[in-house]
Amino acid sequence: MQLLRTVADVRAALRRAPRPVGFVPTMGAFHAGHVSLFDAARRESSTVVASLFVNPAQFGDPADLEKYPRDEARDAAMAAEAGVDILFAPTAVEMYPEGFETWISLDTLGAYLEGAFRPGHFRGVATVCLKLFNVVQPDAVYFGQKDAQQVEVIRRMLRDLDVPIRLSVQPTLRDPDGLAMSSRNVRLSPSARAQALALPRALATRDPVRARAMLDGLDVEYVEVAPFEPPVLAAAVRVGGVRLIDNVPLEGSQS
Ligand code: AMP
Repeated sequence: MQLLRTVADVRAALRRAPRPVGFVPTMGAFHAGHVSLFDAARRESSTVVASLFVNPAQFGDPADLEKYPRDEARDAAMAAEAGVDILFAPTAVEMYPEGFETWISLDTLGAYLEGAFRPGHFRGVATVCLKLFNVVQPDAVYFGQKDAQQVEVIRRMLRDLDVPIRLSVQPTLRDPDGLAMSSRNVRLSPSARAQALALPRALATRDPVRARAMLDGLDVEYVEVAPFEPPVLAAAVRVGGVRLIDNVPLEGSQS
C-alpha cells in the first residue's frame, strides 16, 4: 500500500492504476465499519483508494475537532491489511491552501436535521468529498448507511452536478450490544456507553413515538423519520459529552 500526502502524488500513482477504481473517504480511527467499506470496494474494483482526512471544514465545534481520535500508523496497517492500494492522508493545507474560497452547499438538505444542529457541516462534507472525487476520479465511491444524511447529500450532489461516479451504500455495522460502530465510541466511559445503548434500542422500534419515549431522560437532539432513499428513523443524542447519531432504514434492507 502506498501512503501518499499530496494531490500530485495521488494523481501520478493513479495514472498507471488499473480500473475500475473504488474510493472510500474516511476520517480515520478505523473500525470494522470502515473495513466493510474497504472490503466492498475491493470486491468491485481493481484499485482501491481510501482517504484519511479529519476535515476541519465539517466541524463547527473546535473542541470536537481537537478531540477527534487520530492514530495514523494503526489506520495505515488496517487499510493495508484490508487490501487498500493507496491511502491518501493529506494535510489541511494541501486540501485548503491559502486563498481557498469555493464551497459546495446544499440549500435545503444541507440545513435539515443534522444540518440544523451542525450548521455548515454538510457544506464541509460536500466540498471535501467533491475535491477528493476530483483528485481520485473513481468509478465508484463507498459510504456507510450509518451516516444516512451524508449519503443523501452525496447522492444529491452527484446528481445535481452530473458527477459520473457510482454511489455504493453499505449497511451499518454494530457492536454485539447493538451500538453502531463509530470512531467517537472510544470516548464513551463505560457508564455513558451503557446509557448510549438506549439509542439503537429506541430506533429498533422503527416507531418515532415509541423511540422518543424510550430516549426520554437523555439529551436528545432529534428523533425523526427522514424522507431519504430509503426513508430512515434517525436520531442524534449526546451522552457523556459525546454526540452520537444512528438510524434504521424503514424499507428495504434491515441494517
Ligand atoms: P468516518 O471516518 O466516520 O467519516 O466514516 C467514513 C465512512 O465510514 C462513512 O461513509 C461512514 O458512513 C462509514 N461508517 C462509519 N461508521 C460505520 C458503521 N458503523 N458501519 C458502516 N459504515 C460506517
